[in-house]
Amino acid sequence: MCYCPGDTPSGGYDQAGLPQRDYPCQAYNMNKKLTSTWQRRLLDMRNGLLKNSDNTIEDRKPVGLDQTAVGRLSRMDALQVQAMQIETNRRRQLELKRIESALSRLKDGEFGYCIICGKEIEDKRLNIDPTVPSCIACSRNNG
Ligand SMILES: [Zn+2]
Repeated sequence: MCYCPGDTPSGGYDQAGLPQRDYPCQAYNMNKKLTSTWQRRLLDMRNGLLKNSDNTIEDRKPVGLDQTAVGRLSRMDALQVQAMQIETNRRRQLELKRIESALSRLKDGEFGYCIICGKEIEDKRLNIDPTVPSCIACSRNNG
């Protein structure tokens, strides 16, 4: 996002989701570079998650059960494993949602700003997890 006075996207949006400008200023170019870096990182994260998801589907296929081991206990084990996989899957879905909303914030030029107070999110924080939607102070206040 550019902070030049009168920043109005006139030519729509470019590939990185940034407003096209008639006179790209330095800040714009800098942010554009940063944006595509974040975008790549977020897309990588998403691809990684989707790949993992495929692996889990493989894991969910019944493993050739040893007939002698089929008893109450192994059934419970199997149920436990299944429950764990459901939980893992649930977390993955949440993570995907976070990535999706980070990507859409990136498109809107809101990425890197706290969705609660609007201040810039600390770079360190973003580097650890680019999907964080809020600054340290706000996320502390919100548990
Ligand atoms: Zn905040």
